Amino acid sequence: MTAHILVVEDEPQVAQFIELELRYEGYQVTVAHDGISGLAAARELELDLILLDWMLPGLSGLEICRRLRDTGNKVQIVLLTAKDEVGDRVAGLDAGADDYLVKPFSIEELLARVRARLRRFEEEEKELLEFADLTLNRKTREVYRGDRWLELTAKEFDLLEYFISHPRQVLNREQILERVWGYEFIGDSNIIEVYIRYLRTKMEAGGEKRLIQTMRGVGYVLREN
Ligand code: CA
Repeated sequence: MTAHILVVEDEPQVAQFIELELRYEGYQVTVAHDGISGLAAARELELDLILLDWMLPGLSGLEICRRLRDTGNKVQIVLLTAKDEVGDRVAGLDAGADDYLVKPFSIEELLARVRARLRRFEEEEKELLEFADLTLNRKTREVYRGDRWLELTAKEFDLLEYFISHPRQVLNREQILERVWGYEFIGDSNIIEVYIRYLRTKMEAGGEKRLIQTMRGVGYVLREN
């Protein structure tokens, strides 16, 4: 499946250069040269990513970004900007951009950023996650071990989702706390052990083998043995 990228850039040479490089990499590319047609294209097309220049005639990249997010559009957006003031970057991210690239940039840098964003998007979008005989559906929030349905609380689900989206990676306590309970978590950090125990009990209730392993002194890992 080829990713479809929209390039919104008013400088013709820059737009053409980016377009050719992206096509050479095998992407499907659409180009718009001003803010109005850029926004229209973003709304009409099925896109995977938008490379959006900040300073555009008609409508700024920032404004396009805001309008797309306001209508629930979740397409990946990388802002291209000549401004490198910290405040501008923050404004870009506040408007809903996923990343930004400061001009002038090398084409290698641009392509690397595009690849990284597309990969990230695929991971975030993936609905059904599987590991061994475990299946987790992000949309319905249902979890199965083989044919056996697991009744999980919201927190247990979040914790298992974190593990299953990072299979075979050792996750330390700080990462788990931050990701599942949030930065502001204050309290008994034994909460992780408690929830791992709940999860294991439910996951192994049918006599199945353990999938969440303890790495003593380090953290936990989703692994078959
Ligand atoms: Ca421009």
